[in-house]
Amino acid sequence: MKTYVEALPRKPYITPYEEESLDLPLAFEWADGLPRLTYRDALPQERMFGALWARCGTAREGRIQWNLVHTLRQRRCMLKGLCRVCGKSAADPDTGRVWWIMPSALAGGLRSPWPTAHPPTCRAHVGESLASCPYLRREASVVCTVGDYSPVGVLANLYGQDDGGRVAEIHHQTPVRLGERHLLQRALATQLIVQVTDLQLADRGRET
Ligand SMILES: [Zn+2]
Repeated sequence: MKTYVEALPRKPYITPYEEESLDLPLAFEWADGLPRLTYRDALPQERMFGALWARCGTAREGRIQWNLVHTLRQRRCMLKGLCRVCGKSAADPDTGRVWWIMPSALAGGLRSPWPTAHPPTCRAHVGESLASCPYLRREASVVCTVGDYSPVGVLANLYGQDDGGRVAEIHHQTPVRLGERHLLQRALATQLIVQVTDLQLADRGRET
């Protein structure tokens, strides 16, 4: 059986390629009295929201890694409201609201803020995503538009140092709030979490 992304006619924007995987020369340094994760050759732009971000290439060529998420493209989608499939704006040209597929559990509480690491899906790709994604069908997702969204956290791998001073992963894919500085300093961020607010069911209604 084909996976969601294999069934898609295009290679999704947020899906990484094997050739985009880069070495991560992780190390610890001291910053403001706390140990802080860094690269031995870190660049200033590799740190955002107080965390170091996973380094990756951007060539979009080679063998695609179907079940993974490209860190920098996911973050770009979340910051700019871009579609996970095509990488273009997911904002509705008529209303300015951003198209977003949400879990059906949300349908009863649209007024509540909702944190998510799943990027928007533009109106043109909503149908394609719902039709080809077993997870979305199983979860009886709903199609919404979002009035506002803002970063609230990161999904990250947390690192420490063993007795020999070697950098070692302690927790894998843990959500960390942006205010948790003591954790962000040890984090290798892999996905940005945003909080969406002002949700409305989209005109096309419920999708199952
Ligand atoms: Zn799209």
